[in-house]
Amino acid sequence: MRARRKKVQNTRKYLRLRFLRVILATIGFAILPFVLIVLIQGLSVGNVPYTFNASDYLRDDMADIDVSAILDNGGSAAVVDGNLNVKHLGGKKIIESDALTKAEWTEFLCSIGEKSRYEYSVAYHGGNNIDAAIDDVIDTVDNVAEGDCNYWLVIMVPKAVTFDITLLFNKEAPDYKSTSMVFAAIFGVYFAALIIFVAFYSRKAAAELRAMEQVKIKEEEKRMLLVSELSHDLKTPLASVQGYSEMLLKGVDDENKKQDYLKMIHDNSVRADSILQALFTYSKLGSSGYDPKLEEADICEFTRLIVAEYISRFEEEGFKYEIDIPEDEIKVKINTELFRRVYDNLFENSMKYNKSGTKIGISIASDDGEVFIRIYDDGVGIPAENRDKIFTPFYRIDGSRPKDKGGSGLGLAIVKRIVELHDGEIELESMDGRGCSYKVNLRRI
Ligand code: ADP
Repeated sequence: MRARRKKVQNTRKYLRLRFLRVILATIGFAILPFVLIVLIQGLSVGNVPYTFNASDYLRDDMADIDVSAILDNGGSAAVVDGNLNVKHLGGKKIIESDALTKAEWTEFLCSIGEKSRYEYSVAYHGGNNIDAAIDDVIDTVDNVAEGDCNYWLVIMVPKAVTFDITLLFNKEAPDYKSTSMVFAAIFGVYFAALIIFVAFYSRKAAAELRAMEQVKIKEEEKRMLLVSELSHDLKTPLASVQGYSEMLLKGVDDENKKQDYLKMIHDNSVRADSILQALFTYSKLGSSGYDPKLEEADICEFTRLIVAEYISRFEEEGFKYEIDIPEDEIKVKINTELFRRVYDNLFENSMKYNKSGTKIGISIASDDGEVFIRIYDDGVGIPAENRDKIFTPFYRIDGSRPKDKGGSGLGLAIVKRIVELHDGEIELESMDGRGCSYKVNLRRI
């Protein structure tokens, strides 16, 4: 049951996880190009392969200035004449207003070094290049006569690689090569990451789906096995019921024989019924909607009450017993009615499959997180080769038991399901052929 509930939960968890992964991957791939752009831009700051010097563009006639190379590389240019009127030559506006006061112009020149994203170059047409010595600007402005034909040329180019897609189509631009390479690198990294992710993810998803398919196949095989075991186990009692009832129908004169036949019919129908009841319980406990309704209880107190009921039976049937239950309270979450079946089944098995004189015991121990319940006997035990399958439905060790009363083979399978419904574990401990010992672990609360 726990296995199946876990499987359903795991499938839901798996689908949720896959959905989340796809969403995250989509977001990741959507923002990856921007991250790459920012990264490359960041890395390329100060490493642009070109430099522009405003003085190289100075012409005696302002109209002859050709700044197309600057504009092609994402830069801008402006001319400030002797009257401090601003003429934009193209690109991003370097100076917002069309006319400046002396103070504004000075302020602009003094602050250009602080604008980190762009490289500035300023040249004065009139011989005095102020690019290197901004302090001289104020004097220069003062020295410019009203209406003077001298001017300043201000150019501004991005410090980092630009992502202007038009550069890709402008082979003449000095930045053409680096921009193309940057774009190629971004696309390359992006598609490589995409291909790696898709390949990795689809392989992983295929492997997970294959694993789920395998689980499904195994489940189906188990179900088929259960049905065939059930029909096999029911065949014998039902064949007996049919055989004896046919004989009775033909008419039996001997009253004793008649009674024997009726008893056989009764016993075999009881057996068939107990197999069906056990199977019903087993499948009910395994259905995904089954809620065990666990409640808080003191496992020591609960166990003491059940053991007290068994003591008189042990004594009546000649079994020795050994009990080690702590006085302390140990809280667990159980369904007392269900968990009782665990004790009943394990104690009944010890008595059912062993001769009187066998010692039957129970002990409870615990640590901070878990409770360990051991139910054991020193009887015939379970051969090592059968240990793995002992909790499998319909698995029985027929014939070799000294007191085999022919059970359904579902007892331990039901016990395992009940323990798992309590989020616990059960195992058959190795006893080196000296009896049986079942260890049940439950979580403490
Ligand atoms: P059943 O419901 O038929 O008793 P179980 O699933 O409880 O079947 O047990 C499976 C088999 O394990 C039994 O056929 C029996 O041979 C063996 N077995 C279980 N418990 C004990 C025990 N305490 N001592 C010896 N054999 C045991």
